[in-house]
Amino acid sequence: MTDSLDAYLTAEAARITSACTACGDCVRVCPVVGFGRARDVPPAEVAGGILGLLRDGQDLPDAAYDWMTMCNGCTACIPVCPEKVDPRHMLMIAAHRASERQSATPDLFKRMARAIKLMVAMQLIPEEFKRLFIPGRRREAEVIFYTGCNALRTPHLLFNTMYVLDALEIDYDVVGGPSACCGVIAAKWEGRIADGERQTRSVMTRFAGTGRVLNWCPTCELHLTDTLGGFTRPEMRFDHVTAFLAEHMAERALSFPVAIPGRAVLHGHVGSPGITGAVETLLRQIPGLELIETVMESGYTCGGSGCSKTPELAAREHADALDRAEALGADLLVTLFHGCHGIFVAGGRGRPFEVVNFTDLLARALGQTPHPDTVKELQKGSDLALLVDEVLPMLRANGLTVEGDWLMAHLPALFRSAEFKGGLEVLSTSRV
Ligand code: SF4
Ligand code: SF4
Repeated sequence: MTDSLDAYLTAEAARITSACTACGDCVRVCPVVGFGRARDVPPAEVAGGILGLLRDGQDLPDAAYDWMTMCNGCTACIPVCPEKVDPRHMLMIAAHRASERQSATPDLFKRMARAIKLMVAMQLIPEEFKRLFIPGRRREAEVIFYTGCNALRTPHLLFNTMYVLDALEIDYDVVGGPSACCGVIAAKWEGRIADGERQTRSVMTRFAGTGRVLNWCPTCELHLTDTLGGFTRPEMRFDHVTAFLAEHMAERALSFPVAIPGRAVLHGHVGSPGITGAVETLLRQIPGLELIETVMESGYTCGGSGCSKTPELAAREHADALDRAEALGADLLVTLFHGCHGIFVAGGRGRPFEVVNFTDLLARALGQTPHPDTVKELQKGSDLALLVDEVLPMLRANGLTVEGDWLMAHLPALFRSAEFKGGLEVLSTSRV
């Protein structure tokens, strides 16, 4: 990382614009185009709008703006590009430059960090809160478990993953939380390139000296190893934690000792085929558990930086997944990432199956007691006032002073991660 991030983005834009012929093939196959203003515009013109920004600094036409901001990272465009440009990467680079001119989500990092802190503090006892939210002194370990920021909203997934690493006797250190942000929010969403660069350099420094980073968040992975891959040039292996677990268990011929009888449907993402495949591999090894189908959704993840960027398509695909699990008579609908889990926990209420994250099943199959799924418990209740009464003592125990009325007004938006759509403005100035 010798050059600046700004110089890297400029070099990437030059490389892309010299290769891309604006043929429009990537736009033609893109599943999100039909949901925005690119729908009725010739594909070559849509792609040309992106090139205009990257090559000449032109303003984005509406169609190109919608295409870029609605991209859910599904990867369908990558194999069709005759010039091997990687159109998803092109849009990621363009998004940095477009946000630099005008961000639709200013202060997103501030809002997100505060929203995460509230979400974590309302779910964990102080000892757990400190472990996850306040980084400890870095120690030498075989691997680093990198949680990213947003996964902290569903802390049980991260604790479950740590229980699995503990059960497998892996020597690991934990890096994560907003203080270890990969930099994507500042650089790509807010257009604060220099601040994003500082955050990226900071987290890469924290990884220095380790041989392998086990990543949880797909957005961090995409940002650090794909979008900024030529800038960060990670020296260590950077894998999703599921790939490591599948590999570790196979190498050592380990098996799950505890059976979990039941029929499961997995919710996967076409944009994250390796992670979906690794989870399938692990679930198939659990005695008694029958993985009857994986329902694939477009996008590389659910949530603010993935499928939620095309809400109409996401709503349709989520309803399809829930209906499919019910039609197949599944006992369990198994979720992949933190963003997926929050969405399906809410959407699965009243369905005849349980929504459970794969980490919960892995922990149970290894004889561990999974961490309570507090997101699910909190979202079960439909009475907001009762919910506020329940979480206020937890917030106070973790040192956060929040008024009940304030929480009543903002709790639903906190659960929706509304800051990614420009909501939760109150957190731009709040002292939480
Ligand atoms: S990654 Fe998917 S959503 Fe994004 S531009 Fe490519 S095809 Fe479209
Ligand atoms: S990125 Fe590739 S597929 Fe898309 S317009 Fe350019 S050359 Fe065509």
